[in-house]
Amino acid sequence: MKFRSNADCAAALDHADPLAHYRDCFHIPGQGDTDEIYLCGNSLGLQPKTTARFLQEELQNWQRLAVKAHFAGRRPWMPYHELLTERTARVVGAEPAEVINMNSLTVNLHLMMVSFFKPSRERNRILIERGAFPSDRYAVESQLRFHGLDPAETLIEIAPRRHEQWLRMEDIEAVLAEEGRRIALVLLPGVQYLTGQWFDMARITRAARAAGAVAGFDLAHAAGNVPLQLHDWDVDFAAWCNYKYMNGGPGAIAGCFVHQRHFGRRDMPRFAGWWGHDKSTRFKMGPEFIPTESAEGWQLSNPPILALVPVLASLEIFDAAGMVALREKSVKLTGYLEWLLKEKLPEHVEIITPAAAEARGCQLSLRLHSDRAGGRAIFEELERRAITCDWREPDVIRVAPVPLYNTYGDVYRFVEILWELLD
Ligand SMILES: *Cc1c(COP(=O)(O)O)cnc(C)c1O
Repeated sequence: MKFRSNADCAAALDHADPLAHYRDCFHIPGQGDTDEIYLCGNSLGLQPKTTARFLQEELQNWQRLAVKAHFAGRRPWMPYHELLTERTARVVGAEPAEVINMNSLTVNLHLMMVSFFKPSRERNRILIERGAFPSDRYAVESQLRFHGLDPAETLIEIAPRRHEQWLRMEDIEAVLAEEGRRIALVLLPGVQYLTGQWFDMARITRAARAAGAVAGFDLAHAAGNVPLQLHDWDVDFAAWCNYKYMNGGPGAIAGCFVHQRHFGRRDMPRFAGWWGHDKSTRFKMGPEFIPTESAEGWQLSNPPILALVPVLASLEIFDAAGMVALREKSVKLTGYLEWLLKEKLPEHVEIITPAAAEARGCQLSLRLHSDRAGGRAIFEELERRAITCDWREPDVIRVAPVPLYNTYGDVYRFVEILWELLD
């Protein structure tokens, strides 16, 4: 269908949208009777309507069954995390044994680096992107220092070419071809948080492995946003948070992937805890740590059930909608946003996210140019008009129409209001 810049077109697109009813699965924030136009699922996903009931059930189990709830009730706590396993695997394209929900994102990055970053004298560098999310950079730097290495020498940050906004795959490959024998770990995002660039993860993994390096990914902005095939792409490890596109609630318990190639490796260091111990003998409480031969082997503690609950509530919705259908809508919805911005505000809006669908998820990152007001002032005016997107210093507005709950009408209203403010 050809897009048009009028409200009727948005309404027709919504009418024809086979996923439109999933919006009803979520609480849409707003004041009084008016829903916000919430374009901020890249930062905090919305709350599924089932979350409160699921939580209430476990609070009641705690009240009524207490310790017995580990083995009784509709969803016993002992194997509770297993309810998430297959659903999580489907979202990220993994074998069930390769995924686990535990800890938080930065913690999981550290745990993965404990196992996967083993510097030698010749090979002791980590490759990340310039302008990486601060937590990732801090984590990587502190891992280097932990090994007695100087980040000034061992942290390689790859940048876009001059006057370009995003990284070229061939430049990543060139670094790996030239400096690869010194690089121990490549840690890149699936989708870059600021520019919204989706990296060709299969290609990066191939290049990293060809150079003898480990390929790890931070999927904070990729999980639940773009289709992933972590197993088939042969990624070594990945970690992501569940509170952005995954709708698992603020600070939700996080996800982690370890490729099955690494199960049972004896040469691999890891920080161990009792919940990573082989399930069949865990409660013999013996002194020797025998890891579960799956991603579960990286667990430390028994999981916080009340933190797993919202993630399960959300995963059920992902399962019902399916990543293929979600992606199909997402490409169209973000394509519509891009088309409208170019149609109505060609002079005022610079899109710093790649234009190719295979190089971005749902988010578009915008720089605004106006004689009337600066980007920050316009962002604040959008907030006053019940539009929620987000601001990243120094001058970027991130806008993320999420296919599970955003409408073509949301996108249309956003551009219309932006046009009123800018033109
Ligand atoms: C959101 C995000 C984080 C947040 O880390 P937490 O440990 O969940 O606080 C880290 N890295 C990236 C790339 C992110 O987008």
